[in-house]
Amino acid sequence: MPVILHDTLSREKRPLLLKPGREVFGMYCCGPTVYGPAHIGNFRTFTLQDVLRRTLEVAGLKVKHVRNITDVDDKTIRGAQAAGQTLGAFTQGWTDKFHADCRALGLLVPHVEPSAIEHIPQQVAMIQALVDRGHAYVAKDGSVYFKVCSCADYGKLTHLDRSKLETQAKNSAGEANDADEYERESASDFALWKSRKPEDGANFWPSPWGEGRPGWHIECSAMSLAHLGATFDLHGGGIDLCFPHHENEIAQSECATGVKGYAAHWFHNAHLMVDGEKMSKSEGNLYTLLQLEAKGFTANELRYVLIGGHYRGPLNFTLAGMEAARPAIAKLERWADRLLALAGFSRADFAAPSSHEVQTTWGRFAPAWDILQEDLNTPGCLGQIFTVVGENGEVSPHQAREDVCGLAKILHALGIVLFVPKPELGVPAAIADLGARRWAAKQAKDFAAADRLRQELTAAGWTMLDRKDGFDLRPL
Ligand code: AMP
Ligand code: ZN
Repeated sequence: MPVILHDTLSREKRPLLLKPGREVFGMYCCGPTVYGPAHIGNFRTFTLQDVLRRTLEVAGLKVKHVRNITDVDDKTIRGAQAAGQTLGAFTQGWTDKFHADCRALGLLVPHVEPSAIEHIPQQVAMIQALVDRGHAYVAKDGSVYFKVCSCADYGKLTHLDRSKLETQAKNSAGEANDADEYERESASDFALWKSRKPEDGANFWPSPWGEGRPGWHIECSAMSLAHLGATFDLHGGGIDLCFPHHENEIAQSECATGVKGYAAHWFHNAHLMVDGEKMSKSEGNLYTLLQLEAKGFTANELRYVLIGGHYRGPLNFTLAGMEAARPAIAKLERWADRLLALAGFSRADFAAPSSHEVQTTWGRFAPAWDILQEDLNTPGCLGQIFTVVGENGEVSPHQAREDVCGLAKILHALGIVLFVPKPELGVPAAIADLGARRWAAKQAKDFAAADRLRQELTAAGWTMLDRKDGFDLRPL
C-alpha cells in the first residue's frame, strides 16, 4: 500500500508514487528565513516534513529532500545592519543555530540545503527567461515584475477568484506581506528583482537590469529547478505559504520553463498556535527549543508534542502538553524493556534502526503503520501504538521479537527516540553552551556578541553572573 496524502492543489488524497522511469522522489520544502531563532512553530512544519520523508523511506521510496535557506530579504538585511555584521556572517550565525536545533530534534539532514545568495545567477537567469517570454517587465527604476495577467491559470493552487485579485498585500493566513512598494503595472504583480536602494547597504548584485537583489518568491523556483528539475514530486510548507508564495512559485516556474505540472503534490500543514493565535515573531508569543530546554524539557519530548496533532489541523501548544510527553515516552520505554528481555534483545539492538530495516514484519504495529500511511495520521498512529502497549496477556519470545522490530520501525518513522539520557538536574547543556560562548566573546572583547548572547540567555530564563576568573549561571 502506498503512502496516501492530501494534496492542496487537487484537494484530494492521492498516493505518493515514483513517476515511471524515475528512481528518486523529489521533495522541496521552503526552509527558514535566518534572521533570528527558529521557533517551535517553524519546527512543527520542519518536523512534519521530516516524518513524511521518513514514512516514504520506510515505505521503500528513495527520497531526495531539498530544503533551502532564505538568507537575503528585508528581514535578514535589516537584522544584519542592526547587529553591525555583514549579511553573510549574520545569516551564518542563525543558520548554525537552526542546524543545532534540527540535530537535537532528530530531523534528517536534507540531501541539498541550497542558499538563496548562492543561487543569484540561477535566479537572474530565470527572471531573464520570464522577461524574454513576455511574463515579466522592467520598471523605470530597474526593478522587474511578474505580469500576473500573462499567466492564464494563475491562482490554481488556492483556487483564487481572479476577478478579486487586486493585491499581494496579504498572505493565506491574512497577514501583511513584505510590501513591494515599487512601480508596477498592476497591484497584483509581484517583484522578481528589486533595484538597489540605499538602505540595502552593501547587499546588492549585478544583473542585466542594474544592481539590486532578488524578490523572495523567485528563489524557491530557481533552487527547485537547479536541484530537482522543472517538475518534481512534492512541495511542502506551512499553510501561510500557499498564497502568495507558492502560487507565485508555480506561475514563475511554469512560465519560465514552459513546462506545466511544477510540483505534482502540495503538502501544507496548519500552524502551531498559542491561545488561539499563530505562534509568530510578530505576535510575540513564541517559544524556542532553547527556552523549553531551559525549563528542563528535551527535544525528543518537543518532537512528541509536535507530532501529537494531525498536520491538517492547528495544534495548540501548552506547557501541560509538554509535561505529558515524558510519562508517555517512559511508558513506551517500560514496555520496550519488558519485550526486549522476552525477545533476548538488548537496548542497543533497539536503538540501531539499520538492524530493523531488513525486518519485514511489523508485529502488532502493522495497524499503526497503516494509519500513518493514510494521510500521515501521526496522532492516530500514536494512539494505536498505545493501544498495543496497553494490551495485557502473555507474549511469546517470537511475538516479542516481532513486536520489538515493529515498534522500532514505527518510532523510526515518527523520529521518536527511546532511552535517550534525561537532562541532568542543574544547568541544561544548551544554557551552559550559551554561557561559555558569551564568556569567550567577552574575553575576546567582542561586546556586541557578548550582549547578544546575554539577551539569548535572558530570553531562555537564565542570567549570567561574571566573576574575575569565570561565571555562574542562575535561573531568573
Ligand atoms: P520562515 O522562517 O518564516 O520562512 O518560516 C519557515 C517555515 O515555518 C514556513 O514553512 C512557515 O510556513 C512555517 N511556520 C511559520 N510559523 C509557523 C507556525 N506557527 N506553525 C507552523 N509552521 C509555521
Ligand atoms: Zn519557498
